[in-house]
Amino acid sequence: MTVRVRFAPSPTGYLHIGGARTALYNYLFAKATGGTFVLRVEDTDIERSSSEYEKLQIEDLQWLNLLHDEGPDKPNPKYAPYRQSERSHIYMEHALKLVEQGLAFYDFCTDEELEAAKEKAMAENRDPHYEGKWREPAFAAEAKARVAAGEKAAIRFRSPKKPYTLHDKVKGTVVFPENMVGDFVIVRSNGLPVYNFCCVVDDYLMDITHVIRGEDHLNNTVRQLMIYEALGAKLPEFAHVSLLIGADRQKLSKRHGATSVNLYRNDHYLPEAMLNYLCLLGWSHPEEKDVFTPEEIIPLFTLDRFSAHSAIYDLVKFKYINGQHLKMKDNAELIKMVEEFCEGASVDFFKAQSTEWKNKAIDITKPYSDFITDIPKNIQDMILDTGLESGEQADEIKTWESSVKVYQFIKEKVDNYSADYISEADLNAWTDSLKKDLGIKGKPLFMGSRFALTGKAHGPDLKILIPLTPVTIIKNRQAEVGKFLG
Ligand code: GLU
Repeated sequence: MTVRVRFAPSPTGYLHIGGARTALYNYLFAKATGGTFVLRVEDTDIERSSSEYEKLQIEDLQWLNLLHDEGPDKPNPKYAPYRQSERSHIYMEHALKLVEQGLAFYDFCTDEELEAAKEKAMAENRDPHYEGKWREPAFAAEAKARVAAGEKAAIRFRSPKKPYTLHDKVKGTVVFPENMVGDFVIVRSNGLPVYNFCCVVDDYLMDITHVIRGEDHLNNTVRQLMIYEALGAKLPEFAHVSLLIGADRQKLSKRHGATSVNLYRNDHYLPEAMLNYLCLLGWSHPEEKDVFTPEEIIPLFTLDRFSAHSAIYDLVKFKYINGQHLKMKDNAELIKMVEEFCEGASVDFFKAQSTEWKNKAIDITKPYSDFITDIPKNIQDMILDTGLESGEQADEIKTWESSVKVYQFIKEKVDNYSADYISEADLNAWTDSLKKDLGIKGKPLFMGSRFALTGKAHGPDLKILIPLTPVTIIKNRQAEVGKFLG
């Protein structure tokens, strides 16, 4: 069997992170099994769907690198079209076949009649299911004649009165009791087919072998099982993955922060980090690893590692994973990204430097960065900032007798320095002199000279940092250090 899976978004808004996770699981399963990943656009809700959202969702999927093998832009003639709005004739053909077979029926009841029947049933403590006369086979011929004469009718599916059992890859065995649903509409009287019907017709005709989707569709599945049965279609395997929830255990919504992929994209999250984090929300790595690339996961991806519990969406962890992926990138790529995606004075400064300088600047800032934009921020703070650190550490340095001596020694060297950057060798020579000639060692030497050069008590290795810092900046800082030390 060749695996065929689909991601079937409704283009009624931006791509949601839950949708991106569903797309990812389908993509990974297709890649893991050498199968086909289909993109189907479920745009039957004509009021809310738009081609603009379809385009934006596809752009987000492309940004995530979740590329489909078949879809509206990559049709396989055997299965096209891939937009439900272009498949109305197919749904109608199948709905009419069900009517012919007596498995569905025309219904002429008005909304008022249906509402009144429902209220009556509820008042009498009965299930509010369809009880109209049109379900009786005796009225089929009359119904057909009225439709042939041009009258509008909904098409309702005649729900079998029996329980249905689903063997779900995530939820296990789920039994839907008899009478859970009544006869339901599959085509509205305005001719528009409904989701549960279109979805099954499409999955059947598109030879979908596995339906991997959110648990919120579990309740739809009973209706879908009935339709598969009526169509005489083979059931696909189902995997209903648990929902994403916020820390308050409520379904993830805008209250919990950004829920659409494009907002993370704008905030410079890395697509591979987003895939990594989303993958973990509902699926676990066989070795319990939590940082991995999609390529690494493909050969390991199986449907038996889904968690049946809802996954809590945690931005702190997501940021951490982003940082891990950023640190995995090589310097050349990070240099390109800083220059392409970041802006500000430190980026302008960065762009004007040599490749060697840029490489070293990336080396010292990368360990402190989770986002690409942290790199220029750290360059600003570590290399370009001329402000002094205040607080306990600085006050302690001030109390050391040696601090003024260290400062004066270094200031003299810097004032007379002719190059634009201090070399590592000169810095080492100065440290040696401070040690040997002035007898300063330990903390007063290392912290004292750091403070004299950077105005800060802590920071990255001075031997790397100082050769990256323009002497003009060091001079500006020293004026401030001098005032502070008195
Ligand atoms: N169009 C549905 C949605 O966006 C997908 C349904 C399905 O995967 O079966 O939720």
